[in-house]
Amino acid sequence: MAMAMAKSEAANEALTTTLFSELEPRISEPVLEALREGGFRFCTPVQAAAIPLLCSFKDVAVDAATGSGKTLAFVVPVVEILKRTSLPPKSHQVLALIISPTRELSSQIYNVARPFLSTLPGVKTLLLVGGADIRVDLKRIEEEGANVLIGTPGKIFDIMERMEILDFRGLEVLILDEADRLLDMGFQKQLTSIISRLPKLRRTGLFSATQTEAVEELARAGLRNPVRVEVLTETRPQSKGHQEMASSRTPSGLHIEYLECDADKKSSQLVDFVAKNKSKKMIIYFMTCACVDYWSLVFPNISVLKGCSLTSLHGRMKQIVREKALAEFTALESGVLLCTDVAARGLDIPGVDWIVQYDPPQDPNVFIHRVGRTARLGKQGSAIVFLLPKEEAYVEFLRLRRVPLQERTISDDAADVVPEIRATAKMDRDVMEKGLKAFVSFVRAYKEHHCSYIFRWKDLDIGRLAMGYGLLQLPSMRDVKLHSLSLDGFTPADDVDFKTIKYRDKAREKQRQRKLREKESGEELQIKEATLLLKSNSTGVKGDKATRKSTGRQRRAAQTKEDEEDLVREYRLLKKLKRGDIDEGEYEKLIGFGEPSDDDEPQEERKSTNKGQRKQRRDSRRGSKVCKRRY
Ligand code: ADP
Ligand code: MG
Repeated sequence: MAMAMAKSEAANEALTTTLFSELEPRISEPVLEALREGGFRFCTPVQAAAIPLLCSFKDVAVDAATGSGKTLAFVVPVVEILKRTSLPPKSHQVLALIISPTRELSSQIYNVARPFLSTLPGVKTLLLVGGADIRVDLKRIEEEGANVLIGTPGKIFDIMERMEILDFRGLEVLILDEADRLLDMGFQKQLTSIISRLPKLRRTGLFSATQTEAVEELARAGLRNPVRVEVLTETRPQSKGHQEMASSRTPSGLHIEYLECDADKKSSQLVDFVAKNKSKKMIIYFMTCACVDYWSLVFPNISVLKGCSLTSLHGRMKQIVREKALAEFTALESGVLLCTDVAARGLDIPGVDWIVQYDPPQDPNVFIHRVGRTARLGKQGSAIVFLLPKEEAYVEFLRLRRVPLQERTISDDAADVVPEIRATAKMDRDVMEKGLKAFVSFVRAYKEHHCSYIFRWKDLDIGRLAMGYGLLQLPSMRDVKLHSLSLDGFTPADDVDFKTIKYRDKAREKQRQRKLREKESGEELQIKEATLLLKSNSTGVKGDKATRKSTGRQRRAAQTKEDEEDLVREYRLLKKLKRGDIDEGEYEKLIGFGEPSDDDEPQEERKSTNKGQRKQRRDSRRGSKVCKRRY
């Protein structure tokens, strides 16, 4: 029986025939026991390669496909390395640091590592992630001590800055999971600062499915001569033309398709796809948080999607909501998770059948991470990416990067959902506004595509795109006008008076009405004043011209007022930040900077903006405000 089980386990093509108990240097008995209890007997290739290296004082840079078992490939050596130190450690002596880019991933690593770390006597492990009150963490560390820290760069950096009491001089091992992400520009300042406080004599492990080749990045992580471990997946040739494909960067059980489709048809194709796969568990990736918010609001109103379990997850949600969303989706047999790249890397969610990329990611490496949420550890899985006709070169681009894609034809019987979305927007002002916000955020984010020669912003079919979003009218966007982007394919819904569209939420609508009244009476007053001013003007401008002029002046006055309000608000928030009532992340969010899809992304990139960029951002925010006012 045991033998048969062992054989079928090893028959999983993602596993080797090497037992954990056979590895050299030998793994200690309590860790082997914890492995057995977790159901882990045979190593995956990356485990068989990386564990012995890290355990024998080597630094490693590991590149292995998603779902190939990288977590245990560093958790086991970390525990083995700590076993050899004199235990128990002093209560504030930090021996190991495991850093990952998102809260959810850090929390997952913490849960995987716990049974192993608990075999170490007197070693206290702490999970340190954003979203929780730092004072709570500080107090806990002070009172209970901390020897192994698992967390996100921002929080770990903060803790290091504030806690002199923590002693890193004896640190034995540093692990960077999703290392390429941690070492890119976004986290640079925090990572450099963290690493500069660690002793040079330590072991370092970098892990990812898209490991960087850049030597300077390795050096930044403090690695000089690491052993590079690369585990590629063997694949069968996909088609006759592509015989040369012997290895791939994606798991072998993963089938990836692309669907080429015009922007105005995308939403209908997506809804059709979801409706036809209701019994499946799928993750849909969107470009921005605002897009996730919008489609999460629209989907439940679409008749064919009734009964579908929908969960959304993005970086701008409150931490507690984020946790709940992920836990709920994890427990589901079937259902849909609508999310941003906050859920692209590392998450090990069981039973995901489909990965849908409604919007391709800005960073092509993220493509590999997104699709890697399915087909984990030898299992089968499917993925689909929606591409606009002008984006087709992406297929070849990915093929050259050893990510093979198959074409899928568009579904002819997909119903047009645009009228349904528009009907929803007419019924609820919130849908209308979120639609605009999502659309504007998408267009802005599109500009930031890393492969800008494939995703050419100026080629965007703005009209068709807006149609696909189910917008009632085109928002006025400065850049769109400036570069004369195509507005073809958009038919405005002209049977509605946008002012009369109500919020479904009664309290919100009441508030809007009150504000409208206030505004109208304020405007009346200003018009009266302006007319009086004109009447007393000795140049004696004539009747209708005077009215026109006063309207222009009016508009300028309103704009200046808005500018001033903006500035006052920003100043107030800045004061709050200085007082410590809000942290930098909250500050950035409140003043509406950027549209980061990943909340754990540190603020450096955005903070480094100079005055000019700040102004530009403020202006573009105004741009969208102005267009909002038109509805
Ligand atoms: P990666 O970090 O490479 O994406 P994970 O470490 O998240 O992969 O592991 C993917 C899945 O494989 C997890 O569910 C994990 O429990 C499982 N797994 C890892 N190693 C083994 C093993 N040796 N035997 C069986 N299952 C394993
Ligand atoms: Mg991982």
